[in-house]
Amino acid sequence: MKKKKIDHIWDEDLGEKCGIFGVFGEGEEAARLTFFGLYALQHRGQEASGISSSDGKNIHTYEGLGLITHVYSEEILSKLVGGSAIGHNRYSTSGGAEHIQPVCFDPSLSLVHNGNLPSVVKLREFLSDKKVDIEGRNDSELIYTAIKYFIDQGESVGESIKKSWKYLTGAFSCIVLTRDKLVAFRDECGIRPLSLAKLNGGYVVSSETCAFDTITAEFLRDVNPGEMVVIDKSGLKSEQVVPARPKLDLFEFVYFARPDSRLLGKSVYMARRNMGKYLALEHPLDIDFVIPIPESGIPAAIGYSEKSGIPFEHALVKNRYIGRTFIMPDQRLREQGVKMKLNPIPEILKGKKVAIVDDSIVRATTSKKIVQILKDAGAKEVHLLVSSPPVKYPDFYGINTPTQQELIASYMSIEEIRKLIGADSLNFLSLENLIKATELPESVFSTSLFTGIYPIDIAERAREINKVS
Ligand code: AMP
Repeated sequence: MKKKKIDHIWDEDLGEKCGIFGVFGEGEEAARLTFFGLYALQHRGQEASGISSSDGKNIHTYEGLGLITHVYSEEILSKLVGGSAIGHNRYSTSGGAEHIQPVCFDPSLSLVHNGNLPSVVKLREFLSDKKVDIEGRNDSELIYTAIKYFIDQGESVGESIKKSWKYLTGAFSCIVLTRDKLVAFRDECGIRPLSLAKLNGGYVVSSETCAFDTITAEFLRDVNPGEMVVIDKSGLKSEQVVPARPKLDLFEFVYFARPDSRLLGKSVYMARRNMGKYLALEHPLDIDFVIPIPESGIPAAIGYSEKSGIPFEHALVKNRYIGRTFIMPDQRLREQGVKMKLNPIPEILKGKKVAIVDDSIVRATTSKKIVQILKDAGAKEVHLLVSSPPVKYPDFYGINTPTQQELIASYMSIEEIRKLIGADSLNFLSLENLIKATELPESVFSTSLFTGIYPIDIAERAREINKVS
């Protein structure tokens, strides 16, 4: 099957928190299951999507721009034949349309990658040394190229991944599909999530556990940091390729993951609700009610309300059907920005002292607009509560948050940010209480966005960061 032609891509947002999914099961309609899995992972990537399936002889791939429902049709899914498949939802600023995944340069091998390699110097040097053409290849494509190089030397796919491993510096949760195998592997820190489930006689791998529920697969466990899992007709084999040093990105709990997923065995919803409870303890306010910024602010606002006894109101309503598509809104609508997504209810806001709860402040564009919307709708006081600490450091592990210069908390004090967004008060949850809210020890997390401590070497990219007080 030919890849769909893709003309352009539009994105002005933050990106690269992709979603990946894979199925291996004799007789299953793997591509269809992958479609449903990707549907559940839509929040991790809305720019583009792709599926590769294997029928035992060949790998068939289809990719396209936009939401899952735009990309696939019944006809396309019926052509993606075979009992195993992998898929990817892409969310990215850089690279453009030509880097949509799965990476599949050859019908014998396909790869999906969630994460980012901050440095590809070692990988490039190795491949250039071997005279492999790597012109224009991004990090995911270089991982693919290294694995393919070893396969071409006669190694098995598992051996090829192991041999490539030492050239990989960064965050990688990957699923590889060959004609007869599905292999999942994760960097030694497990920065991005990856879990494993059973479905009938086969197996399923997913960025998040919420996708298992959709297809009623039975959760088994996470793919361990540093582990490689090889699945084929004879079953599942696991190998700890490098020692595990678990450091899940804490931001998965704050923003990325769906609330009905479980990370490190903990419910994301419960963690976010706890964040709200700790916010209430840290920052009590004299207000009439608390309002979540939907969707990610909802559990924390519920927690705040519960702990403080202050009522909860859905005073901002979200149009759930505005996904981020590649169709650019016209200039007038773009200027309205957030208003396309969130609409206030003036009848409950008029003359009231309210607090809004959001999960994070990155550039502060969203919060500034929302404070304005609420004041325009008649609110007397608008306080902003943020269920994470200030984001001061850029990400190099697959979120692609902006450069440090664009992170408002890296160059403004909290009081300066408060003035800029026009809120009556601005308060952030402390890192200590954010971690307590997860009920997990700090040692299992990468906290780089908040602390500037990067658990995996960011090599030459370290030059891009200044320590902030
Ligand atoms: P900003 O308006 O730039 O301060 O962005 C903060 C808002 O974007 C918050 O409401 C978050 O829910 C959301 N957000 C945080 N991180 C990301 C990300 N990596 N990609 C997209 N949205 C994000």
